[in-house]
Amino acid sequence: MKDSDYKEVLDKISTPIVVIISNQGSSKKKNPSKSDFEENFSVHFMNESFENTYGDLLKVGFTTEECVSRLSKEVDWYKMACDCTETGEMQEKTFYSTHANAWLRVHMNSTVSGFIIISVVSIDKDKEREQQLLRQNLRLAALTDELSNSREDLKKRLENINFLNEQLEFIAYHDSMTGLSNRQKFKLDFEEWIKTVKEEGEKFGLILLDLDNMKLINDAQGHSEGDDVICHTAEILKRFKNENFRVYRYEGDEFIVMMKGINSQDTILNAGDMLLEVMNEEGIDFSGGIAICPDDGETSEDLLKYADMAMYEAKRKGKNDLCFFQSIMRERFMEKVAIQSKLNKAVADEIFQLYYQPQFDVATNKLRGFEALLRWYDEETGWINPEQFIPIAEETKLVIPLGDWILETAISTLKDWMEKYNFNGIMSVNVSPIQLKKPTFIFDLMNLVKKYQIPTKNLEIEITEGVFIDNKTEAIMILNQIRDMGIGLSLDDFGTGYSSLSYLQMLPITTLKIDKSFIANITDKGGVEANITDSIISMVTKMGLDTIAEGVEKEDQLAILKDINCKNIQGFLKGKPMPREKCEELMHNS
Ligand code: C2E
Ligand code: CA
Ligand code: CA
Repeated sequence: MKDSDYKEVLDKISTPIVVIISNQGSSKKKNPSKSDFEENFSVHFMNESFENTYGDLLKVGFTTEECVSRLSKEVDWYKMACDCTETGEMQEKTFYSTHANAWLRVHMNSTVSGFIIISVVSIDKDKEREQQLLRQNLRLAALTDELSNSREDLKKRLENINFLNEQLEFIAYHDSMTGLSNRQKFKLDFEEWIKTVKEEGEKFGLILLDLDNMKLINDAQGHSEGDDVICHTAEILKRFKNENFRVYRYEGDEFIVMMKGINSQDTILNAGDMLLEVMNEEGIDFSGGIAICPDDGETSEDLLKYADMAMYEAKRKGKNDLCFFQSIMRERFMEKVAIQSKLNKAVADEIFQLYYQPQFDVATNKLRGFEALLRWYDEETGWINPEQFIPIAEETKLVIPLGDWILETAISTLKDWMEKYNFNGIMSVNVSPIQLKKPTFIFDLMNLVKKYQIPTKNLEIEITEGVFIDNKTEAIMILNQIRDMGIGLSLDDFGTGYSSLSYLQMLPITTLKIDKSFIANITDKGGVEANITDSIISMVTKMGLDTIAEGVEKEDQLAILKDINCKNIQGFLKGKPMPREKCEELMHNS
């Protein structure tokens, strides 16, 4: 654009404008030094409006320095010019010019060809304030508009978020497999109900349901069949669901029922019984433990723990039933926890002892052998009963290292006795199902036999029917391997489990031990025990098995056992379990 064209354009603008340009040519001077800017830049032209308004203030030909002294020295004009050229953005300054005796506002722009264009307006300070307010208002108005536009958008987004939240909440509080509320939801609801307990003194109850025989279903029919049973249970539970009767899937095959308005224990027991009846009709068995809030506890963790203890009691008593929590269960549980913590240390320190209980041939009264029985003396508690700690050792798998120690101790004792006392009887060792399932069990047993050089016919392993619970085929395979080594195999506690005589024929056992509960009642007049024991003994003797009656405490029991041709006896009558030295005395004297 030529200068004349420029002037023509600027003249049309009502705002007063001056154009400042380098005297040395425009295009070269885009980044002048400060002194160059002040000395070699001058007013190139001004528009008509400027001439009319500020004709006295600046004149064409004034250097920048002259302009500055006329306008204001307070303003850093050089910096403004540099900012303009560098950023390409318009710069603005307001200042008081003594020369013009007025407040002036300048806007500075730079052009590509290096022109610096300054527009000057005088301003009324008060008006300026007003304008500022106006501008602020305009800005606010613009913002409000922006906001209201985005509010619509926001509303939509919020709706989306709410929908997503609902979905997330559903996922977070529901079990995906059954669609029932889950344990997180249980916790929330519990917190809600516990408030009413506190405010209104209302009680509510909890039933923890655990399906019976779920493991059997999973193993026999597969996991998808197992899942179907769980879903079916959930569907039945949903039928009962209402505001005061809430149901949740806790985990696996465990469900929780939470019931409000419990006046007496009967209310919840009746509901539980009804549930059990309906489930049973549909082919589902469960065991349930009941705990009442606040009687039994006030936190969801405590109540669940107690309902769980009660549920285990229901299982222990024969399953498919309900059981209330009682404080004795908590004591038993605490005891269990205490034993558990001690057991770890006791196993590591090998502070156990083996006692040996003699077994005698009924007909000859000769020593048949000994059963090794574990003993644990704890400094604080005293003697701890194996019936208490063996199940815990099984649960925690501590029975594996413990069992290794028992086997080695019993075998080394057997070896010693054979050498020192010419003992040629049987050493019988109890082996837990967990221990038997240890992959190296047979290998370790072989090694012990080799290490101590004992004849395998003098060793007997006692197992219970528990070994067949998980995998009967695998268990029989292991038992056969034991038999192949020439080691005897006795079935312990016969008559307490699912024992059946036909089942016995499938097992490679050599000895049957009749449980002490049978023997205890064997002398009862009109009782069935004597007859049953008689039948069992005659039958297993025909099968070629050795028999031992356990827990023989009285002479009359022994007399009957003799009568029915029981081969051996073991019991307090003839000898209690005793430490090794006592057994040695016995062997020495016999
Ligand atoms: P079990 O294998 O049936 O052992 C026989 C239990 O009957 C022993 O109890 C023994 O002391 C007791 N007993 C013996 N004669 C009589 C009697 O005349 N009357 C009465 N009332 N009881 C008698 P103990 O030693 O307390 O052992 C209990 C259970 O703990 C054992 O039952 C066995 O299941 C387990 N156990 C004991 N030692 C071991 C072990 O070394 N390994 C494993 N895995 N389990 C063991
Ligand atoms: Ca035994
Ligand atoms: Ca037994």
